[in-house]
Amino acid sequence: MPQVVVLGGGIGGQVAATRLKQKLGANARVILVERSATFTFAPSLLWLMVGKRTPPAITRDYSHLTRRGIEVLHAEVTGIDVEASAVRCGESTIGYDHLVIALGAALDSGRLPGLAEHTQHPYDFASAQRLQSALAAFQGGRVVVAIASLPYKCPAAPYETAMLIDGYLRERGLRNQSVIEMYTPEPLPMPVAGAYAGYRVAAELAGRGIAFHAKSQLEGAEAGQLRIGGSSIPFDLAVAIPPHRPPAVIATSGLAGPNGWIPVDRSTLRTRANNVYAIGDNTVIPLENGMMLPKAGVFAHGEAEVVAENIARRIRGDLTEAAFDGHGTCFLETGRGKSGLARGDFFASPVPQVEMFRPRHRWHLAKVAFEQYWLRRWI
Ligand SMILES: Cc1cc2nc3c(=O)[nH]c(=O)nc-3n(C[C@H](O)[C@H](O)[C@H](O)COP(=O)(O)OP(=O)(O)OC[C@H]3O[C@@H](n4cnc5c(N)ncnc54)[C@H](O)[C@@H]3O)c2cc1C
Repeated sequence: MPQVVVLGGGIGGQVAATRLKQKLGANARVILVERSATFTFAPSLLWLMVGKRTPPAITRDYSHLTRRGIEVLHAEVTGIDVEASAVRCGESTIGYDHLVIALGAALDSGRLPGLAEHTQHPYDFASAQRLQSALAAFQGGRVVVAIASLPYKCPAAPYETAMLIDGYLRERGLRNQSVIEMYTPEPLPMPVAGAYAGYRVAAELAGRGIAFHAKSQLEGAEAGQLRIGGSSIPFDLAVAIPPHRPPAVIATSGLAGPNGWIPVDRSTLRTRANNVYAIGDNTVIPLENGMMLPKAGVFAHGEAEVVAENIARRIRGDLTEAAFDGHGTCFLETGRGKSGLARGDFFASPVPQVEMFRPRHRWHLAKVAFEQYWLRRWI
């Protein structure tokens, strides 16, 4: 019986494994390897940060996958040997006929001095909880939100972070005693979505009194001060989106490109190795404007659908292939019950074609509906 192994049980891995089992049933073994016992729906971490979600509402164990007939192995993936068609997971070696790599992007706070000790962030479950406590204890002052480096997950998330903190401080009556500033190495917010979207987000920040500083490189942190572009920026609360890096196991797999991420065919998500696909945040997909496809769940999900379909076709003997088309939609939560919406074709030539809709209550409701769809339908 063909054996399909999925590495990583995040957004991409869970969709790929679920679809593979649905399509192949008893005609294939589907094995998913994931180090964590618990999955967190990352987009909801920003609501957790401002106390609008509880941990049980946005986390799940993996029993839903087992019920679907997927074999779930909780282990660390320590080796990928594409010559032997096998992966090393803890003490075991698992062979595969088809492999899907969906190991995401790792956070690397240690890359900048002082970042781990002196700043907060909402980019993983434990850190988002710590930031929630810090915000609950905050009594007003200077909040600095800084993006450490590119690429990072979800082009909108750091900007949502700043605007949600703005809304939270207003609700608590602390906004008049507070300053919020945002720094990024980018030339404008969400540059991959084009100048119009960027200026719209910058206008939303300005409308909330959030000072926006583009082309500003974070260099490190110490008690009460960030070093940005050679200057010392004082803070009472610093939120720094940490540097991201490819998962360590990719480096020794022979699949990494020059920047460490896995280059793939943008339509089929094939890597350079036979029957090995990579999806989601651990890949790099250049766009026609010279930028990279953003690291976002919406793309990990869409890519997983295509890869599952193509592996199922191959196993059934059908050599035609479905293609990933680079379309994606993203909500930009702006606080106080409103969201904007960006959607478009990121594979369009010569530049991505992205529409941006101004913040409205109904986009916020749509974002909540999307969260509930994910939490109920997929996990
Ligand atoms: C705060 C925040 C808000 C976001 N908001 C949005 C949003 O609104 N919309 C959107 O589209 N995207 C959003 N994203 C981005 C989205 O969460 C990611 O792009 C998406 O999860 C990527 O899916 P993935 O499957 O590639 O990786 P992940 O979902 O990160 O999954 C990777 C999995 O691999 C596991 N793993 C890694 N290494 C190993 C190993 N060696 N052995 C075993 N297991 C391993 C990890 O534990 C993890 O479960 C947000 C992200 C954050 C942090």
